[in-house]
Amino acid sequence: MTRAAAHHVLIVGGGFGGLAVAQGLKGAGARITIVDQRNHHLFQPLLYQVGTATLATSEIAWPIRQLFRRRKDITTLLGVVVGIDAAGRRVLLEDGGELGYDSLVLATGARHAYFGHDEWEPHAPGLKTLEDATAIRRRILLAFEHAERESDDTSRSAWLTFVIVGGGATGVELAGAIAELAHVTLPDEFRHIDTRRARIVLIEAGERILPGFTADLSAYAHAALERLGVEIHLGAPVSECTGQGVVYGGRPLAAKVILWAAGVRASPAAAWLAAPADGAGRIKVAEDLTAPGSPDIFVIGDTATIGAWHGKPVPGIAPAAKQQGAHVAVTIRRRLAGDRSMRPFRYHHDGSLATIGRRAAVIDFGRITFRGYVAWWIWGLAHIYFLIGVRNRLAVALSWLWIYLTGTRSACLITQGEQRPAPRMSSGS
Ligand SMILES: Cc1cc2nc3c(=O)[nH]c(=O)nc-3n(C[C@H](O)[C@H](O)[C@H](O)COP(=O)(O)OP(=O)(O)OC[C@H]3O[C@@H](n4cnc5c(N)ncnc54)[C@H](O)[C@@H]3O)c2cc1C
Repeated sequence: MTRAAAHHVLIVGGGFGGLAVAQGLKGAGARITIVDQRNHHLFQPLLYQVGTATLATSEIAWPIRQLFRRRKDITTLLGVVVGIDAAGRRVLLEDGGELGYDSLVLATGARHAYFGHDEWEPHAPGLKTLEDATAIRRRILLAFEHAERESDDTSRSAWLTFVIVGGGATGVELAGAIAELAHVTLPDEFRHIDTRRARIVLIEAGERILPGFTADLSAYAHAALERLGVEIHLGAPVSECTGQGVVYGGRPLAAKVILWAAGVRASPAAAWLAAPADGAGRIKVAEDLTAPGSPDIFVIGDTATIGAWHGKPVPGIAPAAKQQGAHVAVTIRRRLAGDRSMRPFRYHHDGSLATIGRRAAVIDFGRITFRGYVAWWIWGLAHIYFLIGVRNRLAVALSWLWIYLTGTRSACLITQGEQRPAPRMSSGS
């Protein structure tokens, strides 16, 4: 088949799902285009480590174009998709351009959501992109800088209060990492404040943290976080977020750094297709992961919902997106071979993992669970294994080993935006 005549697979989104489709189509004889609004694939599970000054951005992200430099069947494009003309088999781009397709895969992920309070976002940023992570790192490090120069006790304590909203894996991981930053890494570096007195407050609306894990693992994580000095407030929904702090469970708390780790909303793919979606905007896909009524449009990963986990909804995690991507690649290959029969997607859950600081983690493999130090090693090895490329695996392993042994972090850099705290103390104090 000539290149021009080859079946054109257009993949929107170079995240976990999109990359799995491209990898699964290797040698299939299709012409593949990947379009993404960013030039890099991002390993989101370690994003909180960039936000808390543990890892550098280049250790957890890779240019998509570079990943596929040897795949001549793949063209990588930078572009923002804003709509789909399904009848005309065209995808519409923000800059007015358009891309045709024979098969379309929507793997555009999700973003954090504020339960109808989008006005909270500037005060309580979430973690989804590299920009989010470096902005959060800046906020955290700047808060210590402000506190160092603050003469008023009340203001200083607000600068040294870090609130994390949401007790899922991301909230737990952020809280543990900020606690270690304040209590282990920074104390020797400041002269006017004791960073060990910083308050790290984790607020969860539900009855326990890590609700996706077993009750005993969740209790273990709760106790481990408290040992690190994290205050945990359960059953306390946040009802207000401002530049001065939060109100949770009816109580006000002054805090200059609020981080959002509660709730996600799917990309607007459902609106592009006018397709039925769940409350979080995820398209309710058919059994073979196609959009309802559109057999040549597949929707996968965080932007889709399907009850393919023994009847339960498939979780919004990386392995699920990868499995769906692999399934779509097999379906397209079979169709190219002339077989259009429907094969339902089935999800296999390998386990749930969350880390608590640099010495403990919880792992739920279903029949077997791990906690503590052993779990932390399994968590670390698993994450290193899933990183792309030998250089990144070595770099991350070395960074972790260094922090583990010395407690010091090399990525405590305040970049972008305003860097200096307003002068409040007299020079000489
Ligand atoms: C902070 C954080 C921690 C996480 N931790 C874990 C974890 O420990 N373990 C785990 O398994 N999962 C974890 N997840 C979830 C996991 O990262 C997601 O489930 C997974 O990334 C979903 O893959 P995806 O392909 O659907 O979307 P993504 O990987 O998010 O990829 C979507 C891609 O689409 C692109 N895109 C979006 N909109 C457009 C557009 N309009 N035009 C062009 N391109 C677009 C984006 O730039 C992105 O590259 C975490 C997520 C976050 C945010």
